[in-house]
Amino acid sequence: MSDADELQILNPATEEVVATVLAASEQDVAAAVARAVRAQTGWAALAPADRARLLRRFADTVDAHTEELARLEVREAGHTLGNARWEAGNARDLLHYAAGGAERLLGKQIPVPGGWDVTFQEPLGVVGVIAPWNFPMPIAAWGSFPALAAGNAVVLKPAETTPLTALRLAALALEAGLPEHLFQVLPGHGRIAGRALVDHPDVAKIVFTGSTRTGREVMERCARLVKPVTLELGGKSPNVVFADADLKTALDPFSFLDNAGQDCCARTRILVQETVLDEARAFLADALAAVVVGDPADEKTQMGPLISAAQRDRVRSYVPDGAPALRGGAPDGPGFWFPPTVLTGERHDSPAAREEIFGPVAVLLPFTDEQDAVRLANDTPYGLSGSVWTRDLGRALRVSQAVRAGNLSVNSHSSVRYWTPFGGYRQSGVGRELGPDALTAFTETKNVFISTEGPAQ
Ligand code: NDP
Repeated sequence: MSDADELQILNPATEEVVATVLAASEQDVAAAVARAVRAQTGWAALAPADRARLLRRFADTVDAHTEELARLEVREAGHTLGNARWEAGNARDLLHYAAGGAERLLGKQIPVPGGWDVTFQEPLGVVGVIAPWNFPMPIAAWGSFPALAAGNAVVLKPAETTPLTALRLAALALEAGLPEHLFQVLPGHGRIAGRALVDHPDVAKIVFTGSTRTGREVMERCARLVKPVTLELGGKSPNVVFADADLKTALDPFSFLDNAGQDCCARTRILVQETVLDEARAFLADALAAVVVGDPADEKTQMGPLISAAQRDRVRSYVPDGAPALRGGAPDGPGFWFPPTVLTGERHDSPAAREEIFGPVAVLLPFTDEQDAVRLANDTPYGLSGSVWTRDLGRALRVSQAVRAGNLSVNSHSSVRYWTPFGGYRQSGVGRELGPDALTAFTETKNVFISTEGPAQ
């Protein structure tokens, strides 16, 4: 590295320094991209079966280190141990899934007059991935692994607060035998290293996950180079609970408290049919009080700290003292703690009900009937995720068709599976990650027409 700028990585549960890493400069990014260009040429020339074999070996290497990766995520990001173990397993499983795709990157044969027509899915070249701090390991994996499987090289810039698991994944890739410089991780500042990656002419695509504000800037800068983007941005997802639902599962507080609410899919608008509003409020009050908030390395802990003091201050700004709310507890002392909170006195158009808070804070809002529920669910600039809870199958289908969001679940709070496409409508993003088409997003389609009519005499 040519720059002495250092990033101090803090444990958000203790505020202790976990590690210090060098921040990449613009020159470092340029050098990494040049190395990636060379590595990609050799990688794309490998037989797909050989690429698949190496990626499976990478998956096995990750598997052998899941506990180490999980514990690193607990230290740098404050994730609970259970969550962090799932995240390391998710990275491993996605590698296996993407490896299978390397050998199935099929084109088409299209009937045309005068010859044969075939399409090829060709790798883009070097893909730049910019990851956030909320799920450092899975989001690094979702952007990078399908891109590698499709024959690309990847340069990844993790968030400056959470580079450690991504750096470890890159080291494990080398250990598994992936070519040098094929998967490079460059910690650094978004405004320096992130921008340099976005602006580099040899980076063929950017996959960005983060705030809608920064995503908009990334898209504008990419537009200057006509560079394709995948954007996974913010959310303010509804949890639509009809009176006939099983309230205990529908109002599971971890639908918005998972990862201390630092989750773009968090169901932070709890929309409850007014006839069961009192019951819902009573249930949530007990449920929040029962949440175990504390040391994320303790197996019994259900919710850890927020990522940083800045994030805690931002979350706090949405919860003024004395605001009508249901609240759980949180530790005192060092660490970036915030208690589980449901605001009960908000209007549907207040900032807390419209903006992404990205902390353990939801709003409780009543609705009258199905039409009102759909209107409120869609009353947001976002469209990432959401849940619909009812025993009426027809209503579940109607509402999930009417809600404009990329990832809905009926009688469930799940959003992310590596088998299924993930992404948002409107200001929640552009494009999709994961699922059966994940590799295609990292390819260009080439069409070749072969005349059967022979050369002109
Ligand atoms: P950002 O969107 O700013 O950061 C996401 C990533 O982009 C980080 O790696 C960051 O680097 C990088 N970045 C920042 N600026 C640029 C730039 N100009 N060009 C290229 N890359 C850049 O999110 P914040 O960390 O500032 O979080 C603020 C809010 O964003 C949160 O409170 C939350 O509401 C939302 N957010 C949403 C996420 C989601 O998954 N939808 C994830 C993270 C945040 P660096 O770390 O150096 O800033």
